[in-house]
Amino acid sequence: MGEKVERLKQHLYRYHDVSSAASVLGWDQEVNMPPGGAEGRAEQLATLSAIAHELFVSEETGRLLEEAEAEVEGMDYRSDEASLVRVIRRDYDKMTKVPTELVAEFSRVTSRAFVAWREARQKDDYGLFQPHLQRILDLSHRFVEILGYEEEPYDALLDFYEPGMKTSQVRTLFEELKGGLLPLLKRIQAEGAPVETEFLHRTYPVERQWDLTEVMLRKIGYDFTRGRQDKAPHPFTTEFSHGDVRITTRLYPDFPQAAIFGSIHEGGHALYEQGIPAKFARTHLGHGATLGLHESQSRLWENMVGRSRAFWRYFLPIMQAFFPKQLMEVDLDRFYRAINAVKPDLIRVEADEVTYNFHIFIRFELEQALINGELDVADVPEAWNAKYEAYLGITPPSDADGCLQDVHWSHGTIGYFPTYTIGNLISAQLFDRARKEIDGLEAGFAEGEFKPLLDWLREHVHSHGAKFTAPELMEFEFGETISAQPLVDYLTQKYGEIYRL
Ligand code: ZN
Repeated sequence: MGEKVERLKQHLYRYHDVSSAASVLGWDQEVNMPPGGAEGRAEQLATLSAIAHELFVSEETGRLLEEAEAEVEGMDYRSDEASLVRVIRRDYDKMTKVPTELVAEFSRVTSRAFVAWREARQKDDYGLFQPHLQRILDLSHRFVEILGYEEEPYDALLDFYEPGMKTSQVRTLFEELKGGLLPLLKRIQAEGAPVETEFLHRTYPVERQWDLTEVMLRKIGYDFTRGRQDKAPHPFTTEFSHGDVRITTRLYPDFPQAAIFGSIHEGGHALYEQGIPAKFARTHLGHGATLGLHESQSRLWENMVGRSRAFWRYFLPIMQAFFPKQLMEVDLDRFYRAINAVKPDLIRVEADEVTYNFHIFIRFELEQALINGELDVADVPEAWNAKYEAYLGITPPSDADGCLQDVHWSHGTIGYFPTYTIGNLISAQLFDRARKEIDGLEAGFAEGEFKPLLDWLREHVHSHGAKFTAPELMEFEFGETISAQPLVDYLTQKYGEIYRL
């Protein structure tokens, strides 16, 4: 590594260390902290974020960055050095464009919005949240103005979460996906053979569920010497260092899928983080790339692996040993169909593979309408319900189960939702590739062998750390653009069989 790049890298170690320390506090807040700790913790986190921000946007960073840029000029775009400098520049420009005053304002507005959202949801009273959403929208407009865009305002927000992708491109992909999914959903509803799920709602003691998830995590390759699992109401993955990548899950006695698929989902995120090469530690390349790529890993393990027949050929006997009373008479076919039951429902996080993306289309469309000034904040509940009726044929009986269900807007993260479906699209593309390139991939799952898939993902995705955007990675690794067809094909084939269409 060149001398100037090395100096820039070392200069930023402190920034990464402070950020990681803040992550530990954030993890503790979700997992261990008593309610009384909230106020003190908010101050501690604000202080650490401010220190990290100052360290990063300092003039010295700017100077070292310029020197490093001169040093990597003419170097291969894909090299570690050029990529590191490029990714730091992208972040640096974004962070320095936004005035500190706006960062502070954003932090204040969203803390209050979160509290208001929680209350509004609890009381099913959108009016309590509406003024806060208005402020968040106003701030989003300011971000759009400051950051700028090429084609349309939403681009500036999307770029925070999925750099390298434009709104128009996402819209085209989503329309293509919608075109494939609508007829599939209609056929499942009109002609699908009934699927029985009653046995999944029997009582499954949560301690045993916990043990089962740990057996599964070990088997798919999650390294417990470099991570641990804990309980949290909203499952997440967090990374403190190369050797410490943690996940959380949640447990319900009458709904074991929450823990099983929650753990596998977060396990997929964690396998990505654990697979980032040690050489990228304490740098901007030392974690997963974009949100879409991250979600492609979690969804691939959760759905293509964890909801496959082959996976359960191996794991159903193990699960039956944990829960003999609940599952003894259930055979593989019944179980496989039950965990893949399609049911248009109101809540995104519980949605099946076929209807999940409709929840994202709805949010993506509403967000654009809000940002473009075509939808008034006051009219969000009505617009939300109309879209649920149009796409899924159901109307939320309350705003709590409608436009107030997700925390995202209260966090101010307008532009985040589309990354979930981008992740689903990429997961299907990757799995399609892996199937072609790995002999007997699914026959291996049935024997409890997941290493060939993990090795393949390590090589093609994890080894790059955060060097590339999602479209770059797909282009460099596979010569492909992101597309909707593999997901449409995968879902049509899988659900055609399950519903005997
Ligand atoms: Zn996820």
